[in-house]
Amino acid sequence: MSERVLIQTQGLHKHYFMGSEDLHVLRGVDLAVRSGEWVAILGASGSGKSTLLHLMGGLDRPDRGSVQFQERDVFSLSGYQIDRYRNRDVGFVFQFYHLLPELTALGNVTIASMIRHGVLAWLGVGGAVRKRAASLLDQFGMSERLKHRPSRLSGGERQRVAIARALVNEPAVLLADEPTGNLDASTGQQIIDVLHTLHGEGQTIVMVTHDEQIAAAADRRLVLEAGQLKK
Ligand code: ADP
Ligand code: MG
Repeated sequence: MSERVLIQTQGLHKHYFMGSEDLHVLRGVDLAVRSGEWVAILGASGSGKSTLLHLMGGLDRPDRGSVQFQERDVFSLSGYQIDRYRNRDVGFVFQFYHLLPELTALGNVTIASMIRHGVLAWLGVGGAVRKRAASLLDQFGMSERLKHRPSRLSGGERQRVAIARALVNEPAVLLADEPTGNLDASTGQQIIDVLHTLHGEGQTIVMVTHDEQIAAAADRRLVLEAGQLKK
């Protein structure tokens, strides 16, 4: 792990307005993640974990405060640059995988790269990307499943495809939202083993979870409570 801060939030606030109700979910979240670090954020259901991760990944905007990636303020970038940030610099893993049912495992991984490159450039790089996608799936023990559609994969296998998809564009940060939340304990452990391997290769990971046992695998654990991060 290096001392360099890769991604940082400062004074993040997020409200959701529903009719006359003002739900003040994040109330000043400060977080600095170093390059190569694996941080776990624990918190009860509804505490704002997904909200925080979405802001860090540029999927949604804060009401106040900033997210800095490599010392650049993400939300002062243009819309196009934020799209690039979302597609290249961060990779997302969701609790419910969000795979495309009509694509194979390999197709689900390569499509993230196709979106990044655009169809024309894809003609040039597609072959290399398919190789990288197959090699990631192979690393995660999925080499026999490349042509399977999600409906023919188990939960743990689907999540491994989703992790490979998140990594295909070689993001600097992997943002994982309850990556084991939908899996039984032993399958969840396989996913943690995958994250362990990636961490060993230097991957920066921010993972949110409500499961302390899962969080124990990380370098550092923080708790999101009453809209703020605590040690
Ligand atoms: P967690 O991931 O920790 O379970 P979330 O970040 O999903 O928590 O949600 C935090 C709170 O904000 C919850 O009370 C949730 O109902 C509410 N919330 C989340 N997203 C929205 C939204 N788009 N509109 C209104 N309320 C939302
Ligand atoms: Mg959530």
